[in-house]
Amino acid sequence: MIKQYPETTKIIDKVKFILFLFSISLSIYSQEKSFKNPKNTFLIGTDLHIHTVFSDGFVWPDLRVDEALREGLDLISITDHLEYQPHKTDIPNPNKNRSFEIANKYAQGKGLNVVLGAEITRSMPPGHLNAVFIKDANSLLHKDSISGIIEANKQNAFVFINHPNWWPGRPNGIAKLEPIHKELIKKKFIHGIEVVNVGLSIEALEIAIENNLTILGTSDVHGIANWEFEQYGGHRPMTFVLCEDNDINSIKNGLFRGKTMVWYKDIIIGKPENLLPVINSNLEFSQPFYIKNTKIVLVNISNLSSIPFILNYRGQYTLHEDDKVFVIPPKESIQIKVKTIDLVEKIDMNFEMLNAIIGKDKYLKFSKILNIR
Ligand SMILES: [Zn+2]
Ligand SMILES: [Zn+2]
Repeated sequence: MIKQYPETTKIIDKVKFILFLFSISLSIYSQEKSFKNPKNTFLIGTDLHIHTVFSDGFVWPDLRVDEALREGLDLISITDHLEYQPHKTDIPNPNKNRSFEIANKYAQGKGLNVVLGAEITRSMPPGHLNAVFIKDANSLLHKDSISGIIEANKQNAFVFINHPNWWPGRPNGIAKLEPIHKELIKKKFIHGIEVVNVGLSIEALEIAIENNLTILGTSDVHGIANWEFEQYGGHRPMTFVLCEDNDINSIKNGLFRGKTMVWYKDIIIGKPENLLPVINSNLEFSQPFYIKNTKIVLVNISNLSSIPFILNYRGQYTLHEDDKVFVIPPKESIQIKVKTIDLVEKIDMNFEMLNAIIGKDKYLKFSKILNIR
């Protein structure tokens, strides 16, 4: 036993106290990540469409920071409407950067990036567009509906089409582009489109793929996030950006390059090249082996993510005691038994993930060849 002198004990107590405070701050501000990062890649959780009392939202900007931290987000943009100011009598809001400034100051040192954004709010066409990573929201306010978009681009903003299926502009709920959108996309003034804004639009996903726009999912939250998304699987729609580094420039760059995956309810949506690395890092196969005296191979499959994996086995065999479609619950493992007819050395784990959407009626396919022990 080591004798502790009173002074040493005091220091140890101090260290313990600091560690205790640190653990409290971590428990407040960190949340277990919903997906394990792919190798050499950061999965940055973002919400690029958020309102506060500074437009038609119901909460103060600080609360948006606390909500985002509780949900494990890494970056948010406060995107209050520029033109639509229903709380103007009580909150005159002459400086359109103000909601960002308040949120950004409050977020300092808490592990959340807040970037300046704005919702350019016009009737269809062109409808509502968000500009994020802007430098000054005030200079985006113009009489006509196009100058603000051009100004946002002068500020090197990332600009995207909001809720293209929203019924006031699209009574049939079908997202479609107007000639002005096509022109702005051609000029590279529009870079992305909301495929999920509160809810999913499969037509918007088709538009994103056809026009090489970045696939986005946002909350467009106006009230309290927890209450609004209780019925949507308990979390807001998020866009994960696949980045080489966890800094603002890499995130912005990733958005421009279309390196995104949307998480909505229990579904993930994106281009196959972005979903595949996430599946690879979140789905683990054990080394298969034959059950003694049988031609039945046993494989454990583990799901490391926070969503269930709904898998459709597409291999050449049939499964023993199971249908080819099965679910691996979040953070759980299941066992499948494959009837190989003959004794084989390798087995092709060929699947379609039915809750990984890559297009209209298209789901992510992947396969992995495993050596049998
Ligand atoms: Zn809007
Ligand atoms: Zn909005």
